[in-house]
Amino acid sequence: MKKYIFNIFLISILSIFLVTGCTIVGASDLPTNSDNNEKDVQTSPPGEIAHIDDSNSEEGDKIDPDEETDLEIEPDESDESVDNDENNNTGDTGSEDKSDSGSIRTHYSGNGVQKLAALTFDDGPESELTPQILDILDDYDIKATFFVIGQNAARHTDVLKDISDRGHEIGNHSWSHKYLPKISKSSKENEILKTEQLLIDILGEHTPIFRPPYGAVKAQDKQLIDSLGYKIVNWSVDTRDWAGTSGEQMMKYVKQQLKPGGIILMHNSGNTKTVKNMMSILPTMIEWIREQGYEFVTITEILD
Ligand SMILES: [Zn+2]
Repeated sequence: MKKYIFNIFLISILSIFLVTGCTIVGASDLPTNSDNNEKDVQTSPPGEIAHIDDSNSEEGDKIDPDEETDLEIEPDESDESVDNDENNNTGDTGSEDKSDSGSIRTHYSGNGVQKLAALTFDDGPESELTPQILDILDDYDIKATFFVIGQNAARHTDVLKDISDRGHEIGNHSWSHKYLPKISKSSKENEILKTEQLLIDILGEHTPIFRPPYGAVKAQDKQLIDSLGYKIVNWSVDTRDWAGTSGEQMMKYVKQQLKPGGIILMHNSGNTKTVKNMMSILPTMIEWIREQGYEFVTITEILD
């Protein structure tokens, strides 16, 4: 009898040990998964995002140090090896891309015949300010174009849908805003195609327009982007909103640089302060542009 009780006791101890052991093993797996989940949903400005996703980076990949602080930089400040035609993009309102290598154009503006203007908002979406920008655009019954970063779009698919549902155009602005001239060809392809797949999954269609991060694109990049079915779209009017430019100064840039077919660069994500600053001048800007007799259209419409 004593032996029987001892056996029961031994079995109980073993059972407790086994159950506890499994729980510990199970628990040790869990945080890894939840960490990954958190990583997927966290929000942070694009400058930081560029450093999160290195899962696909290859040997030749380098992160441009400028990405740490700047959202959109002048290509000529960042890399001398970038094509000359990209170095002239600010203020270049010429409708023809005179110095493009090969036959693949980088579009800076429309044809310059009709008084059309396109507002473009880069680097989003995010959930706080983007809906407010959409409300401003609705107030003026304007359709604009949003060049989205795939990582941000993946975190805010509802906002992405809202932009599209309200009639605005969505453009591909890479997956993580890496400086394309300094990453490998397969990484470039991945940056473009990952965002493309997300947009197809959420919106059900391929967008035909791509804006390279920082507006920086080399000749061989153009061939790649073209082969993937995209028009390369930069801008002719740079508000420099990302740099904390005052509303008054932004208006000066618009007045100096806007010509028929003008494509205006702004940002709806990144630095809350600079985005809010841009939003505070946006109605004034819209009203002034309209007073000059311009009609607001999307990128696809202005390039038609
Ligand atoms: Zn950008």
